[in-house]
Amino acid sequence: MKTLPPGSTIGIIGGGQLGRMLCMAAAQLGYRCFIYAPEDRGPASDVCAGWVQGDYSDADALAAFARIVDVVTFEFENVDPAPLRQIAANAPLFPPIEALEIGQDRVREKSFAADCGGRTAQWAKVDSKADLKRALEAIGTPAILKTSRFGYDGKGQVRIQALSEVDAAWKALSGAGTLILEKMVRFAHEFSLLVVRDQRGNVSFWDAPENVHKDGILATSTIPAAPEVQQQVPAARALARKMAERLNYVGVFAIEFFASGDGPVFNEMAPRVHNSGHWTIEGAVASQFENHIRAVVGLPIASTKSTAPQIEMRNLIGADADKWLEWASDALSHLHLYGKDDPRPGRKMGHITRLGGL
Ligand code: AMP
Repeated sequence: MKTLPPGSTIGIIGGGQLGRMLCMAAAQLGYRCFIYAPEDRGPASDVCAGWVQGDYSDADALAAFARIVDVVTFEFENVDPAPLRQIAANAPLFPPIEALEIGQDRVREKSFAADCGGRTAQWAKVDSKADLKRALEAIGTPAILKTSRFGYDGKGQVRIQALSEVDAAWKALSGAGTLILEKMVRFAHEFSLLVVRDQRGNVSFWDAPENVHKDGILATSTIPAAPEVQQQVPAARALARKMAERLNYVGVFAIEFFASGDGPVFNEMAPRVHNSGHWTIEGAVASQFENHIRAVVGLPIASTKSTAPQIEMRNLIGADADKWLEWASDALSHLHLYGKDDPRPGRKMGHITRLGGL
């Protein structure tokens, strides 16, 4: 393992807000970031040192990109992993492609979590209407039908309250590839774990935020989480550590859990920095973005300790960002805007982080 010196160039696959915040953290440490993305610009373009426009499926262009940078990482995981192998052949790539492959397939990620000793919602793979009917009879209602691949922010999901809804649910999602039926988990709280593992195998966790979703999209992340959540954090961390070690993971990854009456239930993992970790920019000694950069360049990870007793991150979705002047006028809040000009409903435009109890 060799530590890349400041001045080295980090390639990032994807140029959205996660890329933007990674670029800013990298610049602070003296590194330069080049983005590879299919669009001609994006939230990261204001702050990156270079932008290469190319398709995620263009293996030759990805290989050429890998040759002009010193290390590559990604901020967007809904890409076909096969062409990314061209990157790994030309530059170090962190985290490993296997983490991406598992994380983009709900069937694989649930199986992997269970193999590592985690608990998941009862689930079944669904490839036909007959499978769906059988699965619903076995699992019962309420249940939730999801696309196994390429779903995010609650997209590609249908809730099923009764067996009579089979036809409608099948109609809504058939054609979207393999589906997965999950039993609705009864939970009082949702939380996530943000984990970082460096190239020496050291693992650190930030405080676990309690997350509230609205319409399938993260609305708020709060520290400290409710006491019932905190009781479940050690078991969840043991699972996360095992998953990170089995994958020989390098960088930040996030796992979302339901805090059920019987302990933590694994929901999904993201092999990248995560929206529920945005609070770490001001709320922790080193943010998820800084530690991800540290891990991929071969530096030791810095402290993940929280810097305030109470922290709240709130997403600014769609028209929320129109009130930017109001948010900016709250002297105790840190306002982050991602430079997006089209505030479509459901689109993440920015976030605010408020530290309390200081
Ligand atoms: P996901 O895209 O899987 O994270 O789902 C988005 C949100 O839908 C989750 O954060 C939960 O609030 C809810 N949800 C998803 N799956 C389940 C489930 N099996 N049981 C209960 N709620 C769920």
